[in-house]
Amino acid sequence: MEKPLRIGVLALQGDFREHAAMLRRLDAAVVEVRLPGQLDGLDGLIIPGGESTTIGKLAAMYGLDDAIRAFRGAIFGTCAGLILLAREAVDGTHGQPLLGLVDIAVRRNAFGRQVASFEADLEVEGEPEPVHAVFIRAPWVESAGPGVQVLAEAAGHAVLAREGRYLVAAFHPELTGDTRIHEQFLDLVREEQGVRA
Ligand code: GLN
Repeated sequence: MEKPLRIGVLALQGDFREHAAMLRRLDAAVVEVRLPGQLDGLDGLIIPGGESTTIGKLAAMYGLDDAIRAFRGAIFGTCAGLILLAREAVDGTHGQPLLGLVDIAVRRNAFGRQVASFEADLEVEGEPEPVHAVFIRAPWVESAGPGVQVLAEAAGHAVLAREGRYLVAAFHPELTGDTRIHEQFLDLVREEQGVRA
C-alpha cells in the first residue's frame, strides 16, 4: 500500500478542523500545526479560512511566518489562507505583513456587503463537472503575475489559482461534501514530491 501523505493544517484560528476532516476522508495523515517544528517531515500544508489578520498575527508570534516561508512542500491557502499567501492586499486594510509567497494581489471582502456570503457553481480547470463553491466574506484575486495559472473565476475574477507548488482558493472547499479541490491539492503534493525526489 502507498504510504499516506502527511499534510499539516495550520491550526491557529479558523476552520482548520473541517480541512482536517476532509483530508482524513482522502486517507492523508493530518498534523495540526501550531509550532514551527511541526512542519518537519510534512509533504504539504493547508492554511485555512478564518480571519487573516488574526492568523497572520499569531503565526508571526510563534515564528511560523518564517517557518512557512522556508517550508519546501506544496501549500494550499483557502480564503484567509489565500490572503496570507499573497504578495499584496490591494485595499490596504491588512495591518499584518503577508507571507508573500504567491505572485497575486488580493482584494479582501471583495464581493461587497450585499453578497458577503454566497454559493456558486464554478467551472474549474481539469474538472468536467462544475464545483459548488461556498464564499464567506471572500477575497478575489485582483491581479496575478505571469507564472500564475487561473483555474476558476467568479464575477470575472480569479478565485482558484495555482503558481508552482502553491494552490489558492477564495472559497471554502472544506465546507462542502465535495473532495475534488482537496484531491487536486494532493495531486500537487505528489507532483512536488516527484520534482524534489
Ligand atoms: N474576510 C476574511 C479576511 O479578510 C476572510 C474570510 C474567510 O476566510 N472566510 O481575513
